[in-house]
Amino acid sequence: MIRAAYAEDFRCIGSQCEDGCCEAGWRVPIDRATFEKYQTLPAGELRTLIYASIQRTPQDAGGSVPETHAQVQLTPQRRCPLLDAGGLCRIHAELGESYLSRICATYPRTVHTIDHMKETTLSLSCPEAARLVLLNPSLLSQTIDRAVPFGWHETAASSAPVREFFWPLREFSIRLIRNRAYPLWLRMFLLGSFCRRLEGLAHGTLGRGVPTLLGDFSAAIASGSLRTSMDVIPASPELQLDILLELVRIRIEKDYLPPRLRETLSAFASGLGIATGETTEDRAARHARAHALYYAPFFARHPHILENCLANTILRGLFPFGERSLDPAARLEPALEFAQLATLFAVVKGLLVGVAGFHRESFSAAHVVQTVQTAFRHFDHCPEFLGQAVELLAARNLNNAAGFTMLLRD
Ligand code: SF4
Repeated sequence: MIRAAYAEDFRCIGSQCEDGCCEAGWRVPIDRATFEKYQTLPAGELRTLIYASIQRTPQDAGGSVPETHAQVQLTPQRRCPLLDAGGLCRIHAELGESYLSRICATYPRTVHTIDHMKETTLSLSCPEAARLVLLNPSLLSQTIDRAVPFGWHETAASSAPVREFFWPLREFSIRLIRNRAYPLWLRMFLLGSFCRRLEGLAHGTLGRGVPTLLGDFSAAIASGSLRTSMDVIPASPELQLDILLELVRIRIEKDYLPPRLRETLSAFASGLGIATGETTEDRAARHARAHALYYAPFFARHPHILENCLANTILRGLFPFGERSLDPAARLEPALEFAQLATLFAVVKGLLVGVAGFHRESFSAAHVVQTVQTAFRHFDHCPEFLGQAVELLAARNLNNAAGFTMLLRD
C-alpha cells in the first residue's frame, strides 16, 4: 500500500526551530495518564512549576475525555511556561520523554489505526515536517513503485460497502493528484467529481459498486474524455480573489494573530496590492500577473511541492472518508472531505500567489515552506475555520463543481 513512510524520518530540531510549536499559542492538552503521573513527582522546583502551569479542563470543555483531562496555562506571550530560557522543554530535559503528554510526545505526527494497521503521518504545521514533505521530489516514489494494485472478486466487491474500499480509494486519490497529464487544478476538479459520485454511491443513489466507479473513472482520466466538461467552466479571477479574501478574513477575525502569520499575510497583501487600497479589478490584474510571472514558473520547475502538499494532506486526513473512517457507524461524506481539502488548498495557493508577487524573482522554496507551514498552522489547525469556510461557500452557492473549479483554476 501507499504509506507515509517518510514520517519515520522526522526529527524535531528543538531550539533551532523558527516557529516552535510550544510558542504557537495553541491549547496544549494533558491526557489523564500523564496528569496522574505528575501527581507522583517528588517535591521540587519543577513539580511546583508543573502544578502552577497545568489545570484540570472544565467538564463542558472536554474534561471528561481522557485525552483532554487537563490543559497547560500559557504565559501572556502565549508560550508554554515549561520552556527554559533556551527554548527547551523542561519536562523533556529533566524528567525524560516518558513524562511528556501524548500530544507533546507525538506532534507533528498523527497516529491512526485503520483495519488493525497503525499509520503515522505528519502535519505540515511544523516547519521541519513541511521541509521534509514539500521539498523531496521523490517523496512517495518508492512506496508507489512497491505498491501492488488492489484486486478483488468482481461479483462480491460490487455489493461490498463503500467503507471497505478505503485503501484503494485513497490510493486512487494520490495517484490522481500525481498525474501530470493534467494541470494540478484539473486534477483537483477530477478528484471533486469523483468524490461527488462516490458520495452518491455511499448513500445508495448511484446503482454501481466502487470497483465499477474506479474502473470507469480511471479509464476516463486516461482517455481525457472529461476535458470537455472542464473547459466550459468559466474563469472568474475577481470572484476567485474575492472568495480568497473572505476566507482569509474568517481567520484573521479570530482573537490572536501570531507574528509569523502576520508576516505571511502582510507579504501576501503587499504582493497583491491590497495594502495600497486598489480596486477589485486592479487586484485581480496584479493577482494574474503574480501568478503568471512568479508563481507559475516556480511551480513549473518544482511540480512536486504542491503535489506533496496535497498527497500528505490526503494521507494524514484519511481521505476520502476523514475521521469517519474510524467510526463504523458514521455516515461517509466524501464530497464534504473534498470541499475541505479544496478550500484549504485554495487558501494555500492564494497565499502563495500573493507571496510570490511580493518576492518576485527571489521567490524561493524557503518562502513556499514558510507560507504553507503558516497556512496549515493557522488555518488547518484552527478548529472552526474549515467548517465556516465551507458554510461561506455554500451560502454563495459555490459549494459545487463549478464553484470549486472557479476557486482553484489557474
Ligand atoms: S514545530 Fe516541529 S521542529 Fe519546531 S519545535 Fe515543534 S516539533 Fe520541533
